[in-house]
Amino acid sequence: MVIVMKLDATAEDIGKVEEKLNEYGYQGHLIRGVERIVIGAVGDKNRELVMASLETLAKVEKVVPIVSPYKLVSQEVKKEKTRIDLGDGVVIGGEEIVVMAGPCAVENEQRLCETAEKVAAAGASILRGGAFKPRTSPYSFRGLEEEGLKLMARARARTGLKIVTEVVNPQDVSLVAEYADVLQVGARNMQNFSLLRELGKQERPVLLKRGLSATIEEWLMAAEYIFSEGNYNVILCERGIRTFEHYTRNTLDISAIPLANMHSHLPVIADPSHSSGERRIVPALSRAAIAAGADGLLVEVHPQPEQALCDGPQSLTPGEFNLLMKDLREIARVCGRSMVPAAI
Ligand code: PEP
Ligand code: MN
Repeated sequence: MVIVMKLDATAEDIGKVEEKLNEYGYQGHLIRGVERIVIGAVGDKNRELVMASLETLAKVEKVVPIVSPYKLVSQEVKKEKTRIDLGDGVVIGGEEIVVMAGPCAVENEQRLCETAEKVAAAGASILRGGAFKPRTSPYSFRGLEEEGLKLMARARARTGLKIVTEVVNPQDVSLVAEYADVLQVGARNMQNFSLLRELGKQERPVLLKRGLSATIEEWLMAAEYIFSEGNYNVILCERGIRTFEHYTRNTLDISAIPLANMHSHLPVIADPSHSSGERRIVPALSRAAIAAGADGLLVEVHPQPEQALCDGPQSLTPGEFNLLMKDLREIARVCGRSMVPAAI
């Protein structure tokens, strides 16, 4: 249920509501919107009685049930989009389209820094790069682990880019959070509930990829897991789903973007690289995603894709990425959005 507080409610009034919720075994989550303060309450006992009792408290405007299976991430709790502020002007979910770009995996310092400098010059705000790689085959390159995180931090220091990197195991969350600005949950881990819970207990924003065969509802339920532990900074990422089509690695579900925007208040980005598996169609998918309302993109870029240790065929060269960014600025403008200008 959502407890809508009157605009002049004080911290004490909110505290009284939270106390009452605890008494009934409910968990309260304070969500501050621009227009109203609400408390999302999650629990399943004596709902009618709890609602009636809350309505009698001071400064409670109304109490409404949440119909959707996901609660705190739903628009029933908060209509306006959540803005995730990473500092230094990088805000995901604002008016500006935010582009994250970089190699699939961190390989070595020289390649990473070269890529970081080039994507920054083209207008990316966040460097992507995997240090812990979940691979389909146990014999493939699985990342440089903490050494990779250190190289990512070095590239951040050199370029001013923020960094996003994947965390695979619940026990590595605190280590990855020491380095990363955003922690990525890969498609294969979307329903790793112990990982989601651990991410909910810390403060860094989480980029939550949609699972290979997950419905939109399951994806939003996964985001709900993170919220339910107290971390309200989640970015959704549509990265293609598995279909019968085999000309692409996955099928970008373009409708997931407006649907996620319609049902939740979380920022939504798209990953045209894993969606396609094929460099030549990455630009078209990127343009389509922005036109469909994505708040940003996660794009794989590698200076020598043919030598990449992972996902070379879907990685753009820095030159191709720069051209794509030019096109995206036009699309963003038509959609009433802006983008960081290029330095080149
Ligand atoms: C990635 O972005 O590095 C990745 C492994 O993607 P996904 O989890 O979407 O397959
Ligand atoms: Mn990859």
